Amino acid sequence: FYRVRLDPALVAADSHLDLPAPDEKSTPAEILCTRRAKLKKTRQQVMVGDWVEVSLSPGVGDLWPEQGVIEGILPRRTQLHRPAIANLTQTLVVMALAEPAPDPHLLNRLLVQAEASQLRVQVILNKADCVDPAVAVSWMNRVQSWGYAPLLVSVRTGLGIPALLERCRQQISVVTGPSGVGKSSLLNRILPDAQLATQAVSGRLRQGRHTTRHVELFPLPEGGWIADSPGFNALEGIPLVHPVQLIQCFPEVRDRLGHCQFRDCLHDQEPGCRVRYPEWERHSLYLELLQEVQELQQGE
Ligand code: GDP
Ligand code: ZN
Repeated sequence: FYRVRLDPALVAADSHLDLPAPDEKSTPAEILCTRRAKLKKTRQQVMVGDWVEVSLSPGVGDLWPEQGVIEGILPRRTQLHRPAIANLTQTLVVMALAEPAPDPHLLNRLLVQAEASQLRVQVILNKADCVDPAVAVSWMNRVQSWGYAPLLVSVRTGLGIPALLERCRQQISVVTGPSGVGKSSLLNRILPDAQLATQAVSGRLRQGRHTTRHVELFPLPEGGWIADSPGFNALEGIPLVHPVQLIQCFPEVRDRLGHCQFRDCLHDQEPGCRVRYPEWERHSLYLELLQEVQELQQGE
């Protein structure tokens, strides 16, 4: 069975249907669905995050007034494998300012991975309560020089959490980052009743829910959705991007791309390249990843 949440706008447009009302916390209403056999034949798997077309059949008692069948899966904007979620729009890349100390190389690999996965990026610098303000400011500046607008957060004190929720509105987000930086603490802080919700639902749908650990999207208090388990890590390598496209994953040079006179420039040693500049901190990282994607491409 699949739990399908109803888009309130679509429900309003089809208001003659006897659909479950959203609950008092304004969590979107849900219907329980099976999958049409033709989807099974074409081996189309329904993923968490999919937009689906559903047809409704008469209800089964008062628990689920309507029962649905998934007829089709709408085209996916993105598709991540870990966790397996479709249509994510952004990733919250979390680093700690201390305990563990920031690892810029690791952070940068995560950033490029996110960019190569077509995800919008929010850089979260957590554990602000553990360092001097001056240290926090110098990290903020450094991350800004990489083309991002980092957010200073302390999950412990609550610093930055409202701003973070604001940046998650209208987005479908996943949290990534090395272990120990505070990803689970962050999720617990912004999803206070995530665990409760999971338990309540498991109680109702006892069959088939407990065999594998599942990932789920939860609505955030200010709008938007977030996955309840962290995403990819830096060890996984970056997704296959064409070497010439790799530069697009570096926001700090995107403005300069139009100025490079060579269409197939790799921005390495080419004389007259207008993308490279002397203070470009991540040029060496770019060259390292360029070599990786070139090797990947040759291995294809
Ligand atoms: P994860 O491995 O990324 O999921 O990290 P956890 O959420 O398990 O956090 C690792 C440790 O850091 C835990 O002991 C948390 O209590 C602690 N922690 C998380 N956020 C903060 C913070 O903002 N400040 C401080 N001082 N500790 C934090
Ligand atoms: Zn160039």
